[in-house]
Amino acid sequence: MNRKRADGDEASAGPPNTDVLRALVAGARQRITSAEDLAALSAVEAELTGRRSALATWKRELGGLDEAARRELGGELNEKRRVLEALIAERRAALVEVARAGVLEADRLDLTEVIPAPGPGHPHLVTRIREELEDIFLGMGYEIAEGPEVETDWYNFTALNMPPDHPARSGQDSFYVDLGDGESVLLRTHTSPVQIHLLERGVLPIYAVMPGLVYRRDTPDASHLPVFHQLEGLVVDRGITFGDLAGTIETFTKAIFGEDVRARLRPGYFPFTEPSAEFDISCTICGGVGCRTCSGVGWIELGGCGLVHPAVLESTGVDPEVWSGFAFGFGIDRVAIMRHGIEDMRAFIENDVRFLAGC
Ligand SMILES: [Zn+2]
Repeated sequence: MNRKRADGDEASAGPPNTDVLRALVAGARQRITSAEDLAALSAVEAELTGRRSALATWKRELGGLDEAARRELGGELNEKRRVLEALIAERRAALVEVARAGVLEADRLDLTEVIPAPGPGHPHLVTRIREELEDIFLGMGYEIAEGPEVETDWYNFTALNMPPDHPARSGQDSFYVDLGDGESVLLRTHTSPVQIHLLERGVLPIYAVMPGLVYRRDTPDASHLPVFHQLEGLVVDRGITFGDLAGTIETFTKAIFGEDVRARLRPGYFPFTEPSAEFDISCTICGGVGCRTCSGVGWIELGGCGLVHPAVLESTGVDPEVWSGFAFGFGIDRVAIMRHGIEDMRAFIENDVRFLAGC
């Protein structure tokens, strides 16, 4: 049986005496203090002090009493109502405070929470490989040399045994800047011009590698970029042979790709070396068995090399009867592709942070 029904029954039984009113207040106090939230309290409030409450019903019935009884009971009813209203107000204030604390807790800023900060980043993959290559050659006793990226025709072609009508020039279409009066410069198409700068310096012997950017008029695709990185090597000393070149290539390819990798030389042609060779390494994907990456042959071409052509030494005033040497060159981007299994070179220049962060 619910409380409202009980209050109503008591009210309809005629004017309440003091005990009934005291019991009403005691029961009401218990209900008010146990209201768990503001909505529950409002419902209790309506039952205890609203128009259908026992107090309101008794008040309506005061008119049937004589004046003295009416005044006495009326005063008592008013007093009980004030007591209930005060209890309700007190409980409401407490519940409002609880609700406010709940909101504050939900909105609380947890200053101890660890939010990962953006990391410091790292150098581009091509830069890291370039630095690694430099370390390898420094460890072999080489110096690192650099040269300008804007060259004259002399350094980029002619001094490298490629006179103006040489057919090998057509394979290296470049970007020219016309300076007027028949003069022009070009963005270097290879790092080989640095060989000429080193030879012109006249300090022999030379054991140097020359990493850097080179430029060719290629349309970007999966295996070509108009701007890419090469590493050139030049050794000039007394009594240098082709065997020294082969051993050097074997040594640095193992250092880059691992001890299991084998290197081989195939006859090739470059104007600035004689004899010339292309050098391959055993496929890093299949280990030389043959796969799609190596077109089933088990070898992947890495670069070109050869003994320095006597004409190149002569063009810089170095006596080829006394000095001999070898040179080699390869793409740093290509090393990155082969070692990290990158399928499309354009990823290097597209600035996609997913790619850059992952390698
Ligand atoms: Zn393979």
